[in-house]
Amino acid sequence: MTPNKEDYLKALFQLSVEDELVSNKQIADALQIAPASVTEMLVKLKKDDLIFYEPYKGSRLTPRGMEFATRLVRGHRLWEVFLSRHLGYSWREAHEDAELLEHLTPPRLSARLDAYLNHPTHCPHGSAIPGLDGSIQRTPLQSLDLMPPGSTSYIRRVKEDESLMDSLQEMGIAIGSPVEMVEAAADKSAFKLNLGGKLTRISRQAASLIFVEQFRD
Ligand SMILES: [Zn+2]
Repeated sequence: MTPNKEDYLKALFQLSVEDELVSNKQIADALQIAPASVTEMLVKLKKDDLIFYEPYKGSRLTPRGMEFATRLVRGHRLWEVFLSRHLGYSWREAHEDAELLEHLTPPRLSARLDAYLNHPTHCPHGSAIPGLDGSIQRTPLQSLDLMPPGSTSYIRRVKEDESLMDSLQEMGIAIGSPVEMVEAAADKSAFKLNLGGKLTRISRQAASLIFVEQFRD
């Protein structure tokens, strides 16, 4: 399978909620390509029995497609753990190189990597690593920008975003650390946070990439 096809399967895996169909536009946005080329590729993936595809409605993975997608996502997140834990990569660096390595990781290699890393459950920035059977731990999380002032919670996940990951990490955003919403601008365009005693300002765009446990007032 080509890396290009694999990227589609991974996008479908990440965009699908329950059994709902994913629209072509969602895929085009996620992969940053023209909708016309999406349609073309979906027809090919359907021929390969990797997706169910209904024109004008959308698509979702077949069991076979799910198996490939799981393998990719699993490989991606295991490599992220390896690169950040052993080679000192930042979140963004690990994500970037894992994008390449995931396409070169046969099941034997990811099994050895998983054992070597002592079976990690999450990638460095908090995304769950799916099991070999495709199972994935889904914890209900809420995005940080929805926290009311005065509430506290714990940071559990930062969404992949190459342009913001590093600045969030430098700001002191860490998985598992406590966070308090101190103040929100009236128009919610920016927020003031207490991160382990340090006050930090953050934009709404950045805050919407951070996910926390159900918060308490
Ligand atoms: Zn990741």
